Amino acid sequence: MSGTFSTNSTDRKHLTGDVNLLDLIHLEDLQQLQDALAQFGCVKSVICDPDGHPLTEPSNDLSLCQMVRKSSAGAEDCLQNFQLLSEKIKTNQTSIIDTCAHLGILKAAVPIIIQGQHLANWWISQWCPEMADPTKLQQYALRIGIDPTQLLTEADICPRGTRREFERVLVWIESLAQQITQLGYKNLLLARDLSKMQGLEEELNRYKSELEKLVQDRLSEILNMNQRLKLEVLEREVTGEQMHRESKLLDAINQVLEQIFVDRSEHALAKTFVRVAQELTASPFGFMVEQQEVGGWRVVAEVRQGDDERVQAKSHIIKRFEMNSFWQELVDTGEAFATQAPQSRSPWQPLPKSYPDIKTLLAVPLPSEAGIAGFIGLANNPRGYAYIDQTDVQTLSRSFSKALRQARHEQAQHLSEKRLNLALDSAGEGLWDYLPKLEQIYYSPRWFEMLGYNTGELPYSFETWITLTHPEDLPILEGTFENVSKSVENAFQIEIRMLTEKGQWRWFQVRGRTVERDDEGAVLRMVGTLIDISKHKQVELALQKANEELLRLAALDDLTQIANRRRFDERLADEWRRARRDSSPLTVILCDIDYFKDYNDTYGHVKGDETLYAVAQAINGVLKRPMDLVARYGGEEFAMILPNTDLEGAARVAKKVKMAIGSLCIKHRASAVSEYITLSYGISSEIPNGDTSPKNLVEKSDKALYRAKGLGRNRIVQFDPEMSEIR
Ligand code: GH3
Ligand code: MG
Ligand code: MG
Repeated sequence: MSGTFSTNSTDRKHLTGDVNLLDLIHLEDLQQLQDALAQFGCVKSVICDPDGHPLTEPSNDLSLCQMVRKSSAGAEDCLQNFQLLSEKIKTNQTSIIDTCAHLGILKAAVPIIIQGQHLANWWISQWCPEMADPTKLQQYALRIGIDPTQLLTEADICPRGTRREFERVLVWIESLAQQITQLGYKNLLLARDLSKMQGLEEELNRYKSELEKLVQDRLSEILNMNQRLKLEVLEREVTGEQMHRESKLLDAINQVLEQIFVDRSEHALAKTFVRVAQELTASPFGFMVEQQEVGGWRVVAEVRQGDDERVQAKSHIIKRFEMNSFWQELVDTGEAFATQAPQSRSPWQPLPKSYPDIKTLLAVPLPSEAGIAGFIGLANNPRGYAYIDQTDVQTLSRSFSKALRQARHEQAQHLSEKRLNLALDSAGEGLWDYLPKLEQIYYSPRWFEMLGYNTGELPYSFETWITLTHPEDLPILEGTFENVSKSVENAFQIEIRMLTEKGQWRWFQVRGRTVERDDEGAVLRMVGTLIDISKHKQVELALQKANEELLRLAALDDLTQIANRRRFDERLADEWRRARRDSSPLTVILCDIDYFKDYNDTYGHVKGDETLYAVAQAINGVLKRPMDLVARYGGEEFAMILPNTDLEGAARVAKKVKMAIGSLCIKHRASAVSEYITLSYGISSEIPNGDTSPKNLVEKSDKALYRAKGLGRNRIVQFDPEMSEIR
């Protein structure tokens, strides 16, 4: 709809189409006007719309017509006539006057047309110009079924006048209609203005709402723009953060790569990788699990924040890792997994017992050519692991895995050439190749095989060797490698026990030599072999044992089961040297059974032998110190060596022996000194020096013994220098 009001036909049609008379003139005003006119003109009057619907209440309606309309036929007739007249007015748009054919009364209507629109008809009627024909009325009454007499009576009441007079009334009506038209027109104009104003108001409202909409749009545009600007700022910040993150990631990757090409120890690498990943994600705890070639999963590295590096080096010995469905799924799907503040540890169990409680976890698989080689676990970043961390660690682990594969490949090629010649010489022997500075050691498949392991099942580290070595042999192994590194020796051969996979200790011969030293003499590379010598060793040990037994037997007197003379001489020489070195007193006691010839003669040789045994054991039983020794010196003579014992002490020992023999109570009826077996004892003691000899010492004891015999037997005599002269 246009914003301006115009009077062109289209607009008018539209406007007037919405207008009826009562919109322009109040009904009450119209009713008053109609009532006044009906009364004044003595006519019935009513105003209807062009289709005949009354707009006002009829004024002065006579009972004559009412009576006729009470019958349906009369009402029909009346309506027909009314419609006929209405149609005429509609067509002609002018006043009309007509006579009712049945009742003979006059009726007229004036159209009210405002601005070309036929809005209503003003009707007047019930004016009788002359007396109707009573017969005709009665016939009509009969035809429509009403009381003829009553109709005549009603007809009499109907106002009468000339047609002229009725036409005058009609003129009034016309005049009034015209006034109404004018009033209506005015009102219409007012209505137009009103509507125009309404239109304007509407338009204004529309403009207002359009404006509001514009303002709203603009505002939201501004808000959007603001948002965009904010986003841009944020983006710039994010870009900054991204750049920072990327450089951090790049640093991390470089760190790992550098390490890969410098350090060839895979376990050190694994540790480096875990440590770098930890730094990248600010994780206090990290670990790496790898699938072993022989099957099974093992923790190959673990790093805790604040752990001492040296402690770490020891602790990176691999541990078995039991996979449960949680970890298995991670490996199967090959997708990283992050979680926050779990209620219980259970989903990621089993973790080795020594692990801290996992609060937040990021687990990232380690890709390999054949699938997933393992995974890295990063834990306990207090903020958890955003997506960003996952991506970073994934990138890092991909770089790590790829570079490690490449490095392994290169290494294998490089080392295999160098090892070929050595390997040829070492058929059947385990081979090792140690690069001390890099903490890397290569063990050949045979090396593993000899210990009952599959190739690579144990870490390629010197630590592995140490853990497998028998604690008693560890100083030999470590000492030897230390000596080599100190340039004390270049080649070595040692024998050590090592623990096999089955838990048995086996003997191995380790041979090694340095093949490369740096300018300062530090060992760069050592190679060597490992040979299982358990069988040889077994034979050797058996031989050694047999020899020892032989030796023992060789030193033993058959009859008395104490040391023999040879053993006595050896020990005396040893003890004499020791005593001389320590300037300690050394004592020799010689003793001889009294009248033993007679004993044999009396009791027989067999009994004599038994007595010899009993006496020997009795003496042996008295000697308590480990270094003391009693030997059968001759037929029925015994000799004791008492190191670190002076004459006084020796005399006490001799007395004890004498008592011990006495308490044996071996009958000797042929003896001249006792009814039991007795012995005579000669003691000498000295602190050896250059002037004396072991032989001297024994001689002096012998002299004392001789004296004891001479003095009557069954006694103890200490050597006296005078005795030398006696002999
Ligand atoms: P004395 O008191 O002077 O020592 O008198 P004796 O009879 O013991 O004298 P002598 O030392 O000369 O005698 C040693 C005897 O010891 C000779 C031998 O009959 C005896 N005899 C030596 N060896 C053995 C032996 O192995 N078994 C036995 N049954 N007797 C032995
Ligand atoms: Mg004797
Ligand atoms: Mg004798």
